[in-house]
Amino acid sequence: DNWPKMIGDITFKDVSFSYKNGEKVLENFNIDIKAGETIALVGETGSGKSTIVNLACRFYEPTKGQILIDGTDYRERPLAWLHSNLGYVLQTPHLFSGTIKDNIRYGRLDATEVDIIRAAKLVNAHDFIMKLEKGYDTEVGEGGGKLSTGEKQLISFARAVIADPRIFVLDEATSSIDTETEEKIQDAIQKVLKGRTSFIIAHRLSTITKADRILVIRKGKIVEQGTHSEL
Ligand code: ATP
Ligand code: MG
Repeated sequence: DNWPKMIGDITFKDVSFSYKNGEKVLENFNIDIKAGETIALVGETGSGKSTIVNLACRFYEPTKGQILIDGTDYRERPLAWLHSNLGYVLQTPHLFSGTIKDNIRYGRLDATEVDIIRAAKLVNAHDFIMKLEKGYDTEVGEGGGKLSTGEKQLISFARAVIADPRIFVLDEATSSIDTETEEKIQDAIQKVLKGRTSFIIAHRLSTITKADRILVIRKGKIVEQGTHSEL
C-alpha cells in the first residue's frame, strides 16, 4: 500500500499511561531512540518495563502524550503499518491455535517450508520441534498450551526472523526456564537484534551489556541511563 517504508526511529513524547481503573504507571515519559539502536530496560518488578514495550508495540496507546515512529504519531497510521514492521517475544508469549509451522509463518504467508526451518534453526528451535510427535505439523493447542514458556519464546523468535521487522521487542520470560532453553534464547537474542531498533528486557547481564543504552526504570521513570560502562 501507500504507507512509507519504516525507518525505525521511535520517540516517546510526554507519555502518560494508566491501565483501565488503575494508577498511573507512566507519567511524562520521554525517550528518543534512533533506528538500529538497542535499548535495554532494567528495573525492579512492577516498575513499568513491560508497559513501556507494550506501548511501543501499540498493544496499548498512551493516555496522554504521543509515541512517534519516524516522526509521526503512530495513531495516524493503520495498526498494520506498525505490526507488519514489528517482531516481538513477550514475557508471556502467545501462540495461536494451529501448527508450529503456522505459528512461525504467521503473517508471512509467502514463507516457504525452507524459510521456516531455516528460521527455526537460526534461533535453536529446530531440535525441540523435531522431537515433537509431528514435528513442524504439531498442533500447539490453544494458546500454545502444550509447550513450555521457553519453547513458546523460541517459536516467537523464529516468527520474528521470518518477518524481518524494523523494530524488535524482547520481554524475556521471568518464569522458570531450564538452563538449556535459556542458553538457546541468549543465542537467539544476539542473532535477532542485529540491524533493528530493539527494546530488550533481559535478565542476563551479558545480554544487557551489549545494548547501546541501558535505561534504569523506577516507578515508571528513567532514573539513570547510559552504556554499561557509564553506569
Ligand atoms: P516485571 O519485572 O515483574 O515484569 P514490569 O517492570 O514489567 O515488572 P509492568 O508489568 O509494566 O512492570 O507493571 C507496571 C505496573 O502496572 C504494575 O503496578 C502492574 O501491577 C500494573 N499492570 C501491569 N499490567 C497491567 C494490566 N494489564 N492491568 C492493570 N495493571 C497492570
Ligand atoms: Mg514485565
